[in-house]
Amino acid sequence: MLDRLPTDREHLISDDLERTKKMTVMRSNGETPHATDTPGCTTDLSIEDVKKELYNRHHPSLTFLDIEAHAKTVHRIRTLKQKHDVVMLGHNYMEPLVFGLSEKEEQGDSLGLSMFAAKTEAPYLIFNGVPFMAETAKILSPDKTVLVADKTAGCSLADNFGAEDVKELKELYPGAPVMIYVNSYADAKAESDICCTSANAAHIAKTLPGDTVIFVPDIFFAQNLEEELKGEKNVVYPGKDNTARGAVCEVHERFTLDDLLNVRESFEIPKGHPDRKLYAHWECRPNVLQEADFYGSTSQIMKDIAERVAVNQLERAFVASECELTSNLAQEFPKVQFWTACSIRCSHMAQVNLGKIANILEAIDRDDDLSEYEITLSPETIDKARTPIERMLEASV
Ligand code: SF4
Repeated sequence: MLDRLPTDREHLISDDLERTKKMTVMRSNGETPHATDTPGCTTDLSIEDVKKELYNRHHPSLTFLDIEAHAKTVHRIRTLKQKHDVVMLGHNYMEPLVFGLSEKEEQGDSLGLSMFAAKTEAPYLIFNGVPFMAETAKILSPDKTVLVADKTAGCSLADNFGAEDVKELKELYPGAPVMIYVNSYADAKAESDICCTSANAAHIAKTLPGDTVIFVPDIFFAQNLEEELKGEKNVVYPGKDNTARGAVCEVHERFTLDDLLNVRESFEIPKGHPDRKLYAHWECRPNVLQEADFYGSTSQIMKDIAERVAVNQLERAFVASECELTSNLAQEFPKVQFWTACSIRCSHMAQVNLGKIANILEAIDRDDDLSEYEITLSPETIDKARTPIERMLEASV
């Protein structure tokens, strides 16, 4: 993929960061249709039609070079997607050209996408995300062929925490239920009592028996949850009065309190401003979360933005999260000035690109062996990992 050369971005430098971080303002050209207004992704189109559609998106980080260089591949992917009735799930952190391959209902966060996929009849699911996400899709759709562009793409949270780590914590806190974040592999889920997402963790924890809950694997998320549930639940986690191994998201970890204070000053987003907001994800450091005007899961942040836009109450926003989330938000909400730090990308999610996705579809088209792309789990793991997910779904209603 070519480097992007944005035409309508102002590049700003955040002075008080030790590392030089490129802060970027993203604003589309103002005439962008809402994502749902763009033509569907699986119609019979020519390459010229595809180019026209891509230009019409007025995506703030899609350049002439991106579109001209990749329209042919996008066209081929869309043609094969339609021909083979493939459901293509696009995580919010995907780069714009990849994200745009998915229909609106195929876009979202990892659990939402997996639940959507389970309701479809399509034999093939291509999950444009990292393997732990595709595992959840496989657990919920064991009879479907679940494929990912790059099986080696990792995740700093999921990679550094496994089934043995869950067992160690269970021994340290016998009888306490283990609540595991969906950002984990199936083997760790299989040893846990219940799953949670960043949208429902506080609610799920309150439904669990006893005073104590073991939360894994995200240490910052756990500390934020501990604060949220103060006086209601004792949240224990890796590294809290123990030497158990935990992990953090290497993307959200990078935002510091100084960064946020600098953003407030540089981009004139004062605390309490009615129309300018600073958002942070649950996986950020506790002092970053406390500084934000709004914190939540990706879906909660998106919902808050949509609600504010609907009543004309969002002029400017900074989202302390993965860069491509903001870039995709900037397309959806063209009237809002979004700032982000585009040096902060998930290197794992970035492994997913158009060329690799096209390779999967070409392999399906040739009826080739798909093992290079296919997510496989033993029936026993699927059974065991499904239970904590189902418990979460029951506890969510
Ligand atoms: S952003 Fe990347 S590192 Fe962070 S949880 Fe998602 S996949 Fe893992």
